[in-house]
Amino acid sequence: MSDCKTGAEHIKSLKDGRTVYLDGELVGDVTEHRAFRNAVRSAAALYDFQARPENLELMTFAFDGSNRRVSRAWQMPHSYDEMVQRRKALQAWAALSCGFLGRSPDHLASALIGQRMGIEVFRRRSPECAKALAGYVDYATRNDIFLTYVIINPQAERSKDWGEQKEDLVARIVDEDSSGMTVRGAKMLGTSSIMANEVLVANLQPLKPGEEDLAFSCALPMNAKGLRVLSRKSYEAHAVSVYDNPLSSRFDENDALMYFDDVKVPWDRVFVHRDTDLCRAQFHDTPGHAYQNYQAQIRLSVKIAFLAGLARRITEVIGTTKIPSVAEQLGHLAAQVGMVNAMLSGMEASGSHVGEWYVPNKHYMYSAQVLTQELYPRVIQTIRDLAGGALIMLPSSVDDFANEDLRRIIDRTQRSAAFAPEQKVKFLKAAWDAIGSEFGSRHTQYEMFYAGARFVTTGHSFRTFDWDHATELVDALLRSYDLDGVLEGRRNGAGQAE
Ligand SMILES: Cc1cc2nc3c(=O)[nH]c(=O)nc-3n(C[C@H](O)[C@H](O)[C@H](O)COP(=O)(O)OP(=O)(O)OC[C@H]3O[C@@H](n4cnc5c(N)ncnc54)[C@H](O)[C@@H]3O)c2cc1C
Repeated sequence: MSDCKTGAEHIKSLKDGRTVYLDGELVGDVTEHRAFRNAVRSAAALYDFQARPENLELMTFAFDGSNRRVSRAWQMPHSYDEMVQRRKALQAWAALSCGFLGRSPDHLASALIGQRMGIEVFRRRSPECAKALAGYVDYATRNDIFLTYVIINPQAERSKDWGEQKEDLVARIVDEDSSGMTVRGAKMLGTSSIMANEVLVANLQPLKPGEEDLAFSCALPMNAKGLRVLSRKSYEAHAVSVYDNPLSSRFDENDALMYFDDVKVPWDRVFVHRDTDLCRAQFHDTPGHAYQNYQAQIRLSVKIAFLAGLARRITEVIGTTKIPSVAEQLGHLAAQVGMVNAMLSGMEASGSHVGEWYVPNKHYMYSAQVLTQELYPRVIQTIRDLAGGALIMLPSSVDDFANEDLRRIIDRTQRSAAFAPEQKVKFLKAAWDAIGSEFGSRHTQYEMFYAGARFVTTGHSFRTFDWDHATELVDALLRSYDLDGVLEGRRNGAGQAE
């Protein structure tokens, strides 16, 4: 047995009889299906990467009492140094997908260790729920499991409260007995659910008294009876080849509506039970929300550097790098990458202790969230602007290369300042997949919304900013003069700005 979980073990664990639907059909085995198998292998590659002897120290740590090492994503940092050590592991994982696996296993590990750090919040309201959560995080860590989450209700009528939506839309508790509770209804959007082992179900959006049926949180294995996963269109299935779509064909982590068709949840997997305020507190009064979104910024630091690399190569391919206005655009892009990294370093360096745990600076994290959800589409726009038609003037597919006549024309027409024709086509197809394909377009939507719409993220920033400090600077200025003093000065013949 290896020192830690391997890709083969992960793939095997997904052959669990889960209920996933695609294109009107039940998918038998996600690990073999043409819509999912490459994404599954990309997830498995993360575990193989950490299991390599030379990566064990970088990527894993020895968890209490366990004879196998597990991902550092589960490590709860006590200090700044441990936080940085953990971040390096997460960046190494993100680099394997150029940052395009948004919900790699470290996302939920981050959410759960953050919630575990705040276990007192649960304990104060429900010792049973606290015990269930602590036991679950221990189980998930020990087994290095891959989790996803669904914490958002399906968009339907935004002008109505969640409790007023049509019955069976929003997942709710419909029954309870001595062994557990039964849940019916939907949640969105279980990214990576097809290749995760389990799902955390929760309610991040505000609930009000009277909506207790909706106020729960729990964990379920993906093969739980009655859990139905309705996949969106698969970009992997529509990818032409790895040459044509190197990202869509391998890193389509998928998103899915999850429908709970009377799913029974045992009590030892229930973390919030009919408590509308604990639904909020689970994320916001513990370091959970800070940690999960800090992980997202770690991943973005890799993806944004990758996009800057794409931009630079595009200008090399078409020979524009040295045009002053192009160099200026690249310089601006580089500054944006610098800003993302600086914000990441800032949230780590100005973190603080919550009990024994070291937690990133919450306001800096929310600042990064607000600014990067605006930044991402702007970066994509800049790359499109730098590229022009080169991204489109491409052979229809890799098969054009197999036709000798076409190959001759391709070799004559795909000219570049820097690359041979075949290299140029290969690169530009990758660039288009990243920014313009259906996969690339979904990524823009993802970066704009994964943490909530703008009104939500700016709300977090508003809540966590040190307004007292900012307004005190203003007040101190106002205290430095007053009306009577100025009038008195003027009566005594003093000048305008004495
Ligand atoms: C690709 C992708 C993957 C995702 N993966 C997951 C996942 O794995 N797990 C998960 O739980 N969720 C996931 N989500 C869901 C995501 O968290 C939500 O999309 C996000 O929280 C926004 O909620 P919403 O979609 O309901 O949009 P809304 O909150 O409805 O916002 C949409 C727009 O409506 C307007 N609006 C609505 N309400 C207001 C208001 N009160 N004030 C002002 N304007 C308003 C704004 O213009 C806003 O931009 C994913 C989303 C995407 C796009």
